[in-house]
Amino acid sequence: MVPAIHRPAEVEVDLLAIKKNLQAEKAHLKPGQKLFAVVKANAYGHGAVKVAKMAARNGADGFCVAVLDEAFELRDASIVDPILVLGVTPANEACIAAAHNISLTAPSLEWLKAADMALAKKDMVLKIHLAIDSGMGRIGFSEDQEFIAANEFLRNSTHFIVEGMFTHFASADSADSSYFDYQVKRFNHLKNLLSIKPKWIHVANTASSIFDKQIHSDIVRFGIGLYGLNPSSNPDSPDLESKITLKPALSLVSELSFVKKVHSGYGIGYGSTYVADSDQWIGTVPVGYADGIIRKLSGFKIKVGDNFCPIVGRICMDQLMVLLPEKMPVGTKVVIYSNKPEDPNSIKKAADYVDTIHYELACLLSDRLPRIYH
Ligand code: PLP
Repeated sequence: MVPAIHRPAEVEVDLLAIKKNLQAEKAHLKPGQKLFAVVKANAYGHGAVKVAKMAARNGADGFCVAVLDEAFELRDASIVDPILVLGVTPANEACIAAAHNISLTAPSLEWLKAADMALAKKDMVLKIHLAIDSGMGRIGFSEDQEFIAANEFLRNSTHFIVEGMFTHFASADSADSSYFDYQVKRFNHLKNLLSIKPKWIHVANTASSIFDKQIHSDIVRFGIGLYGLNPSSNPDSPDLESKITLKPALSLVSELSFVKKVHSGYGIGYGSTYVADSDQWIGTVPVGYADGIIRKLSGFKIKVGDNFCPIVGRICMDQLMVLLPEKMPVGTKVVIYSNKPEDPNSIKKAADYVDTIHYELACLLSDRLPRIYH
């Protein structure tokens, strides 16, 4: 998909906000703690290379991505810091990861054996982080016996550097810490079975770092906070502002591409789900669900000029329609997602409107939208 540069629609990213968020988190770190910037999924829609370069310049110690190709993108952009691929990479990709000094997640003994075979053929050494499934139910070791066997296997293999061991919490943002505590217990139990000593034991994401969860973590894997967004949408989560000041970095802007007056009874969009009940001014904005503006956002109010106007009718693939308070000129600025948390069209409020989380709406912003950096 090509970025549409001949259309007035773009994702604006405030790189200074990214820098400030990173500095705020660095000030929050415990002594000796490292910060790995999580830039997977194109830096949560913000643009991986630009964000990573800004983070590298401002003291990020490394990066986390989800898939190997995202790590290659950073290496291609001359980023030399440690990179950890958090997801499961097929074991037969171990050599290419090693060749680029990229650390992979080791999720099982079976994976270790398969990667060992691949590495042995080329006599290569791969950095790995052992993933522990302490209760997330996603990837990693969860059984004692398998983990003990993996420990033995690694002691006898010359193809791995066990750089890390990590887990991920399912509810680090909740005031109720019972499940978090259970995960900590499981993680510590497995950690005590390991005779190998990894360089970094890490468990913290944005939420567990900012909300000061009491668990040792050599690295904070700082994701959503880097983008200035609250890691929690739980009503019972601790108050973010009392802990750290974050500034959202992303806004999505466009313009009215077409404006017309419709008469009472006129239908708008596929299925005519909206019908004007009086003479009304309707504006068209040239973005749609192919850009990541999901159809459920119909009815959400976006900013047109100085007015907050509801999206009317079904959102189309490439366009959406808004109800204007009056005739407005083509070219009027439209802010679909605002980077000001207090605005009614902040990405957080848009996420609440469609009953999801802002992580999802940011990641959905497609490559067709150019990223513009300020
Ligand atoms: N660590 C792992 C394993 C993750 O999957 C993620 C994000 O999904 C993160 C860290 C970053 O989490 P957050 O964006 O909440 O800081």
